[in-house]
Amino acid sequence: MATFNAAPTHRNFIAGEWRDPLTGEYLESLNPAHQDETVGLFPRSGKEDVDAAVNAALEAYPRWRDTPAPRRAEILFRAGQLLLENKDAFAQDMTREMGKVLLETRGDVQEAIDMTFFMAGEGRRLYGVTTPSELPNKLCLTFRVPIGVAGLITPWNFPMAIPSWKSIPALICGNCVVLKPAEDAPLSSVNFVNALTEAGVPAGVVNLVMGEGAECGAPLVAHPATRIVSFTGSTAVGREVGAEAARQLKHCNLELGGKNAIIVLDDANLELALEGCLWAAFGTTGQRCTAASRIIVQKGVYGKFLERLTERAGELRVGDGLDPRTQMGPVVNRQQLDTIASYVEIGKQEGAKLRLGGRRMTGGDLAQGLFFAPTIFAEVTPNMRIAQEEIFGPVVAVMPCDGLEQALEFANGVAYGLSSAIYTADVNRAMRAARELQTGIAYVNAPTIGAEVHLPFGGTKNTGNGHRESGLATLDVYSEWKTVYVDYSGALQRAQIDTEEL
Ligand code: NAD
Repeated sequence: MATFNAAPTHRNFIAGEWRDPLTGEYLESLNPAHQDETVGLFPRSGKEDVDAAVNAALEAYPRWRDTPAPRRAEILFRAGQLLLENKDAFAQDMTREMGKVLLETRGDVQEAIDMTFFMAGEGRRLYGVTTPSELPNKLCLTFRVPIGVAGLITPWNFPMAIPSWKSIPALICGNCVVLKPAEDAPLSSVNFVNALTEAGVPAGVVNLVMGEGAECGAPLVAHPATRIVSFTGSTAVGREVGAEAARQLKHCNLELGGKNAIIVLDDANLELALEGCLWAAFGTTGQRCTAASRIIVQKGVYGKFLERLTERAGELRVGDGLDPRTQMGPVVNRQQLDTIASYVEIGKQEGAKLRLGGRRMTGGDLAQGLFFAPTIFAEVTPNMRIAQEEIFGPVVAVMPCDGLEQALEFANGVAYGLSSAIYTADVNRAMRAARELQTGIAYVNAPTIGAEVHLPFGGTKNTGNGHRESGLATLDVYSEWKTVYVDYSGALQRAQIDTEEL
């Protein structure tokens, strides 16, 4: 029985105040490690709530836009400090709402802290260029200018990191924000918005509306005043979001699914590769967009590697992420659990060899939770669905290959292109792979996960629409260029025409 009534009820944050949803409806968020524990009740908002939040953002926009960027940055810097002070408490909340182990939820909060401090520095940069004119006595320069209201839609697997990746750059550029977090992990966004507010972000500059995708996310995308739409989630939903944004000619960045591969060549440090593969395949219970769901191993070491991987994955301690001994937490929700189980059946039917796991875990302390055993399929071939489709769970497909050429062919032979990795001692092969892997991120002798906030993050092919989050690249999503020409010649000078006389 869920402890429905004892759980705290949360509200939307609109125009600087916590407000009940106009729908009067709430969604229950359950702890995936203990489905009998309700983490809280969260608004099930509708279009009217979204309209109110967008209006609040529109109203706050002129003042925030005109606040000097270094002043905006000071407020954000304070928010970073508050996140740091509350890191442990926020990590605990996050583990309770979506399950990943404390070590990782602490990392998630840390990523928000890193992003906040990094972008606070941008407050005193936001550099444009000054450049010579083709004409005399004329000056050319560029500025980044804000765009207006940003509608931000985020998934549950990085519940504070991803909201920060979007809102902090949006804010430093001078935009106002309406954030719609995933229904499976809204508490981390409540904590994040609290930190921003306490740091002094003015009323209306950051707004939070919670609810389901179709009811609350879609109206945010469709609202004519959200001139920026930034979405992270599945490729299927991303296509819809992108289509609507395109119809209205909005700035739109889409960060979508992945089917990431690690290549292990014969000459690799096998112990290092093993550690990396375990971390990338089973960290966050395989529910990362950058998770390694394929391991492509050269035949000379395939047998040995598979044996060691199976042994080590079988030893992973599965349980409640709040227990510091736990190495892999639960799956986020029942639907995801069913999806994973169905892919295991698909893998078996396709002829892949199930080497480990493939089943739900319900014994002892796991009885009330949504646990799935670390799962390894061997003898996987490139066209199998388990080698092509994103499963988003602790399931890894191990594929034998002849050498680098074939490994690259397998790695690149999917519709996604987020992250990739190669383990080899040969710098020539490593550099060739780094160049030829068709992904936005490539690692050498490190796993597919481990992005840092000051570098661009994003992918090719069906992983997105060509934008990047993080790093300075993200500023292009949240600002537009204004080009200014100053002619101090006192005469009409015509570009491309009067240049001939010089
Ligand atoms: P999802 O697409 O189901 O949901 C993502 C968000 O979109 C949620 O907030 C949801 O409520 C909202 N949404 C759903 N339908 C909508 C609609 N019609 N209009 C507007 N919003 C809508 O994805 P998820 O299950 O939360 O997350 C898992 C997916 O996210 C995986 O595919 C994963 O690879 C991807 N992901 C990508 C990255 C990246 O940076 N590339 C990072 C993390 C996760």
